[in-house]
Amino acid sequence: MISRCRIVIKGTVQGVGFRPFVYRLAGMYNINGSVLNSSRGVIIEAEGEEGMVQAFINMIKENPPALSEINSFQVSELPPAGFTCFEILKSSHDQTSEALIPPDVGTCPACAGEILDPKDRHYRYPFTNCTNCGPRFTIIEKIPYDRLKTSMKTFSMCSYCGAEYNNPLDRRFHAQPVACPACGPGVRTTDNKGEQAAEDKNWLEFAWSALGKGKVFALKSLGGFHLTCDAHNADAVKSLRIRKGRQAKPFAVMCKDMDTVRKYYHVNNDENKLLLSPQAPIVILKKREHFGLPEELAPKLNTMGVMLPYTPLHLLIFSGPFDILVMTSGNYSELPLVIKNENAIDELSAIADYFLFHNREIVNRCDDSLIQILDGEVSFFRRSRGYTPQPILIMRKKNSPVVVGIGGEMKNSFCILKQNQAFMSQYIGEIDTIEGEKNLFDSFANFQRLIGAKPEIVAYDAHPDYASSYMARKVPAENYVEVQHHHAHLASCMAENNLDNEDIIGVILDGTGYGIDGNIWGFEVFKGSYTGFERMFHLAYVPLPGGEIAIRQPWRTAYSYLATFLGNRGKEHAGEIFADRDINIVEQLIASSFNSPLSCGCGRLFDAVSAMLGVCHENTYEGQAAIELGEIALKASESILKASYSYTVTGDTILPGEMLEGIIEDKFAGVPAEAISVKFHNTLVNIICDAAVRISARTGIKKVVLSGGTWHNEYLFKTTVKALRRERFQVCFHRQVPTNDGGIALGQAMIAHWRLKDVKGRK
Ligand code: ZN
Ligand code: ZN
Ligand code: FE
Repeated sequence: MISRCRIVIKGTVQGVGFRPFVYRLAGMYNINGSVLNSSRGVIIEAEGEEGMVQAFINMIKENPPALSEINSFQVSELPPAGFTCFEILKSSHDQTSEALIPPDVGTCPACAGEILDPKDRHYRYPFTNCTNCGPRFTIIEKIPYDRLKTSMKTFSMCSYCGAEYNNPLDRRFHAQPVACPACGPGVRTTDNKGEQAAEDKNWLEFAWSALGKGKVFALKSLGGFHLTCDAHNADAVKSLRIRKGRQAKPFAVMCKDMDTVRKYYHVNNDENKLLLSPQAPIVILKKREHFGLPEELAPKLNTMGVMLPYTPLHLLIFSGPFDILVMTSGNYSELPLVIKNENAIDELSAIADYFLFHNREIVNRCDDSLIQILDGEVSFFRRSRGYTPQPILIMRKKNSPVVVGIGGEMKNSFCILKQNQAFMSQYIGEIDTIEGEKNLFDSFANFQRLIGAKPEIVAYDAHPDYASSYMARKVPAENYVEVQHHHAHLASCMAENNLDNEDIIGVILDGTGYGIDGNIWGFEVFKGSYTGFERMFHLAYVPLPGGEIAIRQPWRTAYSYLATFLGNRGKEHAGEIFADRDINIVEQLIASSFNSPLSCGCGRLFDAVSAMLGVCHENTYEGQAAIELGEIALKASESILKASYSYTVTGDTILPGEMLEGIIEDKFAGVPAEAISVKFHNTLVNIICDAAVRISARTGIKKVVLSGGTWHNEYLFKTTVKALRRERFQVCFHRQVPTNDGGIALGQAMIAHWRLKDVKGRK
């Protein structure tokens, strides 16, 4: 019996070798018909012996190409049409675009082998790629994904590349960015005035020799420029810090291979897998005891970001005399990554000695993703290259309106909800500069086009002065929704854990967020859902003397904590600990409540304790004092791990006075900072657990979500999860979007969806 089926497959199925895979299977099962990429996904017509057609369908379902991700698979039976062969049809263009754009993929082993093989025509060619690897999101201008709609459109394939591209059995069949030395993009080196530095054919030897002399290169990578220098060379690393205006924030490094990573860092199985994954993110690793590399790479810290080469250009550089290079983003601190050749010299010539350019345009800026493995779980600091624009599946009906969450002011990433998918943008970063604002604006326009969605509802942070809120209101839409910062955190965590609109307990710990009482919130225990929240407990407020300055200078916050909760005795202690600081100014600011906003941010409490213990007096990068305090807790001896301080709860307010007293007492008794840090962390765990237990006793709720940047803290995260589970709570945390402000856009959008879903009469 001859049967015919039409199969429509949606998800990440383009640019991942799906059609050649289907073509080969059709040959194996004697199937006639066609396969085609449309903007709705891959559409297959399959006609053949009934059993064969079924086997063909099962094979596609069960063994799809490694890089694909199937979200929906529909089969409909049709009357036989009498197809006589199986062919790959040209892409169709229709209005609705449901096909997903694949993220960029790190170089595959086959391509890596070819560029190092003198006999291969791709030998030493830095833009080698195939269906299994290469640029995608970063080069796509429009959908559907086709070479002519990417920045490869200016390069026409040579006959060799064309033959591979057109051969259904080749690894490069319909790989849109295929290229070789004869037909593709090329590399150029210049000095920092734009003068050619070496002959094009000698670029690699030139790069090796300059890096060997301690020079800094600006290197055009996949999603933007990197700044690179020899990680063994302390002087080079130091001068890169000074030139980039980056005092202490750790630099990421790129290692030649896994053996090199293991030589300098501890790597567990999860970290190993992540480093070698096609997404090739930066993974945060612990330095080995005998690290042997300059302290300047990550001053005072035990951890830093490490990645493996993910483009042929990186691989070629590592085929020379280096095993580890600094590979940090090509920008001045907090500005967007440079992506255009024409801007690079202007913007980076004061940092880099030389430039390594190429002429394949970067269409979509995309920073490296940054991930930490926390207690065996993936925790994103930055979800970007390799993951964007892969959607996160959420609980929502397909006919729901398109909702935009514009995100926060720092670590910005916006989000578009379309059907049951949440598309998180790449990392946008800080947007409180003109450049940052433009970055958000341009990226949003591009992203919206690629997703093919017209916003109906736009959600944004309730902070009255945020640039993001202002921009959100400029996006044309039917409805606008203001969302409280920590409520957005809560909803974001609920959404990625596929929770329905039910009341849960949310423990939201972060640095700063605008509260509905006009104060700065950040240590919040909520009872809430997508549609609303109740603030059940929060840390007591303290004034931040000088506002922003207090965030940069944690000793000011420490003074404020001691003065607020321990009165004159606290002031005396503070006078002793911060004898070299200008305490009078801070005292006056607090007394006159001038420029001293009230805050209960958890980050500020960490700042205060960190400064009290002399761990960190200055935040030269966001969260520094808290990170350093968190790291030393991991070094404390076993004997102290159960100890903690006491505290009081009055009404809904958590009072840290007794804890501060205990910390001061321990400090003056000579207890090591590591031990005090552990006791401080344990106290927070107790506070959180007690609060959850109390709420649960009143309401019967047994689900807790954890969100906010503080949850990057390894000791706090592990210990809290364990303690809550001991109390039989189901604990939800972030695995797919960052727990920091990089994830709030998802929560904003979900809250707006739920608030307005009945307004429009749909669900
Ligand atoms: Zn490849
Ligand atoms: Zn070619
Ligand atoms: Fe936050």
